[in-house]
Amino acid sequence: MSEKKRKVIPDEFIPEVRSRVITLDNKDYLLQNDAMFTFYERSIGELSPFFLAIRDEKRILGCKCTKCGIVRVPPMVTHCPDCDFAPTQLVEMEQAGKMNTTPPITYFATSLFLDKAPFGRGRVILKGADTALSVMLYTTTGILVPGLIKKGTEVKVIFRDERVGQISDIFCVPTSELTPQQVAKKGLQESELNWEAPKEPEFPKPSKEDLAIYKQSLKEMQALASKMSQSKRARKAIEGWKRSIAVKTKAGEFAMFINNGDFRIEDKKLESPDFIIACEDPKTLLDGLMYKGAITDSVIMKKLWISKNLEFNTIFKLDRLARFLVMEQKEKKAAK
Ligand SMILES: [Zn+2]
Repeated sequence: MSEKKRKVIPDEFIPEVRSRVITLDNKDYLLQNDAMFTFYERSIGELSPFFLAIRDEKRILGCKCTKCGIVRVPPMVTHCPDCDFAPTQLVEMEQAGKMNTTPPITYFATSLFLDKAPFGRGRVILKGADTALSVMLYTTTGILVPGLIKKGTEVKVIFRDERVGQISDIFCVPTSELTPQQVAKKGLQESELNWEAPKEPEFPKPSKEDLAIYKQSLKEMQALASKMSQSKRARKAIEGWKRSIAVKTKAGEFAMFINNGDFRIEDKKLESPDFIIACEDPKTLLDGLMYKGAITDSVIMKKLWISKNLEFNTIFKLDRLARFLVMEQKEKKAAK
């Protein structure tokens, strides 16, 4: 989960040098992309110690009122409004606490947070604090789904490896996913967590009927995949994308390959796939590829599990693949 050096304006937001023609009242006008920009430095002001402690010392600071003793995190006041503005003191906080609400999960993020989704957004009350700190939430067990982190769930603050002094330098994961040593450690970093051992769902033994359904579904998916690979429109959905995916179902396992427009499904097991999809019923995936219900919805509804949270992006592309093929087929029909 390491982050590359980020620019204040991400490259993808900067328009290319390009022009286009618009027609108004039967006259053509040329429009050209251009830019106007201003950069500035923003002071973090009195919250500087809080962000510096995160960035440089992997510590979380709060402020304690010298009169009433209330502890606020982050340390948003230097004087307590409840105590006639008695001064507050900076104090170091514990790095674990309990969620004070059930966090909603963002699956379809704005472009600014696309490389971080899905994530939960919630408020945690750190041990010893009287106020809640807003944090992003993740799981190391695969895709973040509803129910994994709830009101009252104990979570631990994790520090990003590269920190710049922003609140996104930290996030939380459930303490139940950590070893006691990790829970106790202050300044635990993302690279110290085990992101590579997600908990795969277990399926019951397949019946004869399940095996037949599996065989038939696999055949249909393979046929669909070759159609997609031949569709100009569908190829666009997975342009520049490359993934090998192991798909595990109740009655068998197969492989999906996305390779810059090509989409292929093979009846074989993969040794080291980029990630794993597990869905008990292969029809869940087949329906998605047939554009009968979105695969992203199946993930959210917990019918389809993926081993890496950020591969939700790939699932999103599979949905587009299905949609683009259907759109092309409709257009062809209409043109006849
Ligand atoms: Zn006070």
